[in-house]
Amino acid sequence: MIKIGVLDIQGGVEEHVNILKKIENIEVLKVKYPKDLNNIDGLIIPGGESTTISKLMKKYGFIEAIKNFSKNGKSIWGTCAGLILLSNKVDDEDGTLKLIDIDVSRNAFGSQINSFSCNKIVEKISSIPLELIFIRAPIIKNVGENVKVLIRLEDKIVAAKQNNILVTSFHPELTNQTLFHEYFINNFIKAKRS
Ligand code: GLN
Repeated sequence: MIKIGVLDIQGGVEEHVNILKKIENIEVLKVKYPKDLNNIDGLIIPGGESTTISKLMKKYGFIEAIKNFSKNGKSIWGTCAGLILLSNKVDDEDGTLKLIDIDVSRNAFGSQINSFSCNKIVEKISSIPLELIFIRAPIIKNVGENVKVLIRLEDKIVAAKQNNILVTSFHPELTNQTLFHEYFINNFIKAKRS
C-alpha cells in the first residue's frame, strides 16, 4: 500500500492528514523525525510559516534527509510555505531545500485579509473546476528551463513541477476536493514506482 507522509513540524498538518484519509488504499503518516522518511513513498510539506519551518528543519536534520529522499526518486509536494521551502530562491536569497528551479516572492498577494479563493478548470488535473484557496500566498516569479508551469492565475504562476517535485501556492487541503491529492498520488508517487 502507498504510504504518504506529511511533514509534522509546524503548520497545516492535520488538514492534509484529514483529506488524505478520504482517499482509499493509501496510508498516511506524520513525519516527525528524519528517520520517518524511510517508511514513506511520498512527502507533503504543508503551509504554515516558512521561516519557522526552515529553522526547525535545520535544527532536526531534515535538510539532508529530504534532499536524499528526493535523490532516491521519491516525490515531494509543497503547498504554500512548502513551496517556499522547496524553491531555489526566495525574495532573491537562497532557498532552504533548493529542490525546484524556481524564484519565489513571499506574501505576493498581500496579507491575511487579502486571502481569497477561486475556481479554475485545469484540464491536466481534473474535468471539474478546482477550488484554489490562497492565504498569504507566494507566487513563482521565474522558472528554470526544466520546470513545467501547471497553473497560472492571470499572469501569475501558482503551480509548477520539476521531475518528482510538485509545488502549489494555494491550499487544496482546505477544500472538500481530494482531486489534487489524487493527482499527486497518481502522477508522481505511482508514476515513479512503476
Ligand atoms: N506567507 C507564509 C510564509 O511565508 C506562507 C503562508 C501559508 O503557508 N499559508 O511562510
